Amino acid sequence: MKEKKCPAAEYCGGCRYQGTEYREQLKQKQEKLDQLLSSFCPVSKIIGMEDPYHYRNKVQMNYAYDERHNIISGYYVEGSHIIVPIDECQICDENINRILSSIQRIVSRLHISIFDERIMKGCLRHILVRSTNRNEYMVVLVTGSPNIVKKDLLIREILKYNPEVKTIVQNINRKRTSMVLGDKSFPLYGKGYVTDHLCGLDFRISPSSFYQVNRRQTQILYETAIDMAQFKGNEILIDAYCGTGTIGLSAASKVKKVLGVELNSSAVRDAKINQKINGIENAEFLCEDAGKYMEQLAKEKTHIDAVIMDPPRAGSDTRFLNSLIRLSPDRVVYVSCNPVTLKRDLNYLKKYYRIDRIQPVDMFPFTEHVETVVLLSKVDKSTKKVYVDFPLEDMDMSGFVNGATYQEIKQYVKDNYNLTVSSLNIAQMKEKYGIKERENYNFSKKQNVKHPTCTEEKEEAILDAFKHFNMI
Ligand code: SAH
Repeated sequence: MKEKKCPAAEYCGGCRYQGTEYREQLKQKQEKLDQLLSSFCPVSKIIGMEDPYHYRNKVQMNYAYDERHNIISGYYVEGSHIIVPIDECQICDENINRILSSIQRIVSRLHISIFDERIMKGCLRHILVRSTNRNEYMVVLVTGSPNIVKKDLLIREILKYNPEVKTIVQNINRKRTSMVLGDKSFPLYGKGYVTDHLCGLDFRISPSSFYQVNRRQTQILYETAIDMAQFKGNEILIDAYCGTGTIGLSAASKVKKVLGVELNSSAVRDAKINQKINGIENAEFLCEDAGKYMEQLAKEKTHIDAVIMDPPRAGSDTRFLNSLIRLSPDRVVYVSCNPVTLKRDLNYLKKYYRIDRIQPVDMFPFTEHVETVVLLSKVDKSTKKVYVDFPLEDMDMSGFVNGATYQEIKQYVKDNYNLTVSSLNIAQMKEKYGIKERENYNFSKKQNVKHPTCTEEKEEAILDAFKHFNMI
């Protein structure tokens, strides 16, 4: 493909891979992932874009006055609030580029007051535009004060020159902050949201909704994750870190039940709306820390068949991962936007899960970011067979108990319950639950020795380990 030259390349530092051929960008991302992850299993070929330009469906422009008091708009230079004027961004939806330029001209012509963050005075701070594949555009005017002088004229002009704008929202942000949006939004024109169509469903996008910025690749990403999970139709699926429920709702028709969990309350509200507008009945969304929720499910011994997890860049945490191990679903699909934390979390899980597939998807051409989908399948210790051709007497089998070693059981109990149990505790529990002990190992040879039995807490933990290793 012929590389286009970005008109802002000289001064905008936004795209890390500026000037690098797209094929070369993919090669570099693949190499980085191979280096980090191929020790788990071979990394499949990254799925790139046919056309890597103009993929962003959400763009925000910052407004300011230049030294001659002309109104300018553009991106911030990385790590600063200095504005790089942008006329046309090569990774943004072309219509968004056009709408943003048109609004900049209108704002200048009408002399709309611009916010000055040094003195915290004035009006317009940012303009955010979001697009959908139904050719609906939403414009968000982020202001530092509630009152927009010439508001009606401004709205009229925006609509006159940009008929594809279906809603205009005002968002008020009075804080001294780098966050673009404030807490309060209300529609000035239209419904205050737009609707995107993805994976056969409708998703409502409001100004602050989290929604993937590259629709074409998101569809591929979600389909890859759902295919990997190989649903049969009767599964209980957890969509962890679910945002507005997009993955779980896309999978809902393929499973018995979806349980979505997400920390951000407005995303959960959107997930419930999305569920409703799509008439999906077999999903529930909960606003909660994902680790805490998983811990609760593990305590209640809820049966879970599959988990799709899509944590933020920081990855997951041990609370979540330990509970995942305890819940022991057959399949876990890990969708990651940060291969470094992905590697850390896979290392944590690899004792309990086999890593079967690693599939990168390039969601963000021209930037260094990449998404990776990983399939993990439960290691079924009970069916682990050893085909060896030497006498058993030569093997030291003393550590084994029907498929799991004492050490593995101890480690499992330590990791999940933070309890230390002895081999004797395990042996006693085996006896209690009628699990046959290999002869001649671990037991005291003396008859009728009295040993203290283990506490109820330890019993429960060991019992859980037996279940986890399919021993009962
Ligand atoms: N799966 C969604 C969102 C992924 S982004 C999608 O594809 O659109 C990661 C999400 O994790 C964000 O919505 C963020 O709010 C949420 N999150 C971050 N920390 C969390 C936690 N501790 N518990 C639950 N959700 C969390």
